[in-house]
Amino acid sequence: MRFNPGTLEAHRFNLPIVDHHAHLRHDPLSMEAVKRFERLGGSHIFLATQNYGPDVPVSVEDYRSQYETTLAIVRSIAKETTVQAFPVLAPYPVDLVRVAPRLGLARAVELQGAALDLAGKYVQEGLAVALGEVGRAHFDVPGEVRDALRSVLEHALAVGRDVNCPLVLHTEDLDAGGYAGLAEMARRCGFPASRLVKHYACSHLPPELRQGVAPSFLARKDLVVEVLPDPGPWFLETDYLADPARPGAVLALETIPRRVAALLRENAQGEGLLERLTIPFVEAPRKVYGLDLQRKD
Ligand SMILES: [Zn+2]
Repeated sequence: MRFNPGTLEAHRFNLPIVDHHAHLRHDPLSMEAVKRFERLGGSHIFLATQNYGPDVPVSVEDYRSQYETTLAIVRSIAKETTVQAFPVLAPYPVDLVRVAPRLGLARAVELQGAALDLAGKYVQEGLAVALGEVGRAHFDVPGEVRDALRSVLEHALAVGRDVNCPLVLHTEDLDAGGYAGLAEMARRCGFPASRLVKHYACSHLPPELRQGVAPSFLARKDLVVEVLPDPGPWFLETDYLADPARPGAVLALETIPRRVAALLRENAQGEGLLERLTIPFVEAPRKVYGLDLQRKD
């Protein structure tokens, strides 16, 4: 292993370093990114599924093959690195917007429901740790599409409740009203707000305004520094997307271990820093997912 202060520190303190939301492809470019993540001290990745082909899925079988690709990526990572990846599966909410003109809105809603049921089966079998991404479009859509997305989200909450797993939410950036609305919707569906994760959180709201929902903050330097004193639970993520056509469009996969290495080097928070870092890397995975993350290297 190449010398790197971050790696050594993470090992010395036995601190897992976790990217809570990334997308990867089953190709060498993605594996190289995982290996860089590993070399810098990264230990765990929550791997969100995505459309791997150029077309939006139009059948449950399309979604099954998409989920199987995600699982295959996880197995390759386990074979080639010490990094542990956790699959997060669901039909992407924006798929509904894209497929509705082809299938009609009613069939598009049915398809999302069936794909959610299928993702729930993977969770039940221990093959995935959460349903995600679920939620709504992050851009304006016609009222009927918005209603359709809401009914799909309610279905996702019901599946999550039945198979007892967290939901990873794709939404617009949330203010206090946004957090309250989602927590209320979850309660109505019998789903605990404490198992909701707001993925791609770009602004920090104090815990009392989050209604028990855990934010997963984008690991931008200023945001990481801002959220470190927060008592949690919260996560850090890159939302890395391995897309050769858009290099540098998102944060690199090695961002989180790099940030941690820099923080440990500067040790700006003194003795309390390691304790702060256990919030996103140990406590939040335990509280929200029931996962006990340990380094394997
Ligand atoms: Zn994502």
